[in-house]
Amino acid sequence: MRRKQDDIHIKRMADLLRQGATLTDLSCPVCASPLFRLQDGTLWCGKDEKKVIIVKEGEETPQTSTNSVMDKLEATLMAKVQDLQGKIERTNNVEELGKLTTALSELLSSLEKARRMKKS
Ligand SMILES: [Zn+2]
Repeated sequence: MRRKQDDIHIKRMADLLRQGATLTDLSCPVCASPLFRLQDGTLWCGKDEKKVIIVKEGEETPQTSTNSVMDKLEATLMAKVQDLQGKIERTNNVEELGKLTTALSELLSSLEKARRMKKS
């Protein structure tokens, strides 16, 4: 059985969508219900019926230390990728080419992991 309160909430959300608001993947910091973006760009909580200002997580708690380590790692890995790329270009040896491309793909996956760690 659905509570009356929920019905009102759903009706409000439907009204917002009809008015041209779009549903975002953000949630309200107060009630955790999904937020809407109004046509003027304002974030709106349909449940609380008020404007919401979201502070981006990265701005609130900057992970400077992790990021700077990852930046260095990324630069090192990129240099190695370039080095390998040059070697791959120069070699005519099939066996060597195999080793180089394996090393390259491992480097690229490490690079991807370093970048992922930086984001989270
Ligand atoms: Zn809310």
